[in-house]
Amino acid sequence: MTILVTGGAGYIGSHMALELLDAGEAVVVIDNLSTGFRWAVPEGATLVVGDFGDEKLVAETIARYDIAEIIHFAAKIVVPDSVVDPLGYYLNNVAKARSLLECAVGGGVKHFIFSSTAAVYGNPEQNPVTEDETLKPISPYGRSKLMVEWMLEDVARAHPLTYAALRYFNVAGADPQGRSGQSTPNATHLIKVAVQAALGLRPGMDVFGVDYPTPDGSCLRDYIHVTDLARAHLDALRYLRADGRSIVCNVGYQKGFSVLEVIEVVKKVSGVDFPVTIAGRRAGDPAAIVASNARIRAALGWTPQHDNLEQIVEQALNWERRLHNRRLA
Ligand code: UDP
Repeated sequence: MTILVTGGAGYIGSHMALELLDAGEAVVVIDNLSTGFRWAVPEGATLVVGDFGDEKLVAETIARYDIAEIIHFAAKIVVPDSVVDPLGYYLNNVAKARSLLECAVGGGVKHFIFSSTAAVYGNPEQNPVTEDETLKPISPYGRSKLMVEWMLEDVARAHPLTYAALRYFNVAGADPQGRSGQSTPNATHLIKVAVQAALGLRPGMDVFGVDYPTPDGSCLRDYIHVTDLARAHLDALRYLRADGRSIVCNVGYQKGFSVLEVIEVVKKVSGVDFPVTIAGRRAGDPAAIVASNARIRAALGWTPQHDNLEQIVEQALNWERRLHNRRLA
């Protein structure tokens, strides 16, 4: 039995491929290399270069490799971009996910694990937010992911397929063994940007808003190590294989850090006091969002191993240095 990982040449997908291979699983990656990298696909995984929305290619891949399980990462993921380009997000994240599900059902795939997001909650009434919170996404990105959750619910009701939708909070850090990391050249995510500023790869950075109703005025987020996130998928896979019912789980540490606190940690760990400018709010940002992780711990037995912001930052710094040296080489 082989697992199909869409987006396996990307940041989270490549960590997933490593986690699966380390666990002795067989892995096929499908990735169009639009933002991913051939080198990021670990040795031992088979790479099919193409679009996960290409039904012919995906159906052939499922048949050829006897795929029984799909872990679906490939997506557009930048909240402010989704505000500017909603149709691009709905095409990629929703329409193509529908095609993938069509192939999954047609090919007899048993289990499907979906990268969902904390953005499905929008501005939650309460933090930590539980999976039962009202879903009121405030960006096309969040809405696109929620639409796929709904599709999965309906598909699982109509067909013999079970799924886990994992609502990621803010994913950061890099493989502790240095085998992969966040490599997108124009990445916009906070820890990546701050680490680049610390290494002098950008002149400084902006803080998008300090007038939010939070303790220091900047946004509060729950930053989770990418390796713990990959592990959550493996736990979900084992749960579904053991006949677990379809499930939706948050994946986060249940701890909030403000943007200003994260920047302080990056300055401390790197030892560099880079320039920080207070800028206006960014479109689509909720003020505060922190995961309740009670469900994933109880249902999947997920136990975080890397719940330490300094360690996350240190590994992100190590990866960024490595990436920079690779580009210079
Ligand atoms: N942020 C910031 N400066 C940056 C990048 C991000 O102030 O250069 C803020 C952003 O406005 C948000 C938080 O950091 O409040 C996390 O943003 P990120 O893009 O990392 O993840 P998101 O929460 O949007 O998925």
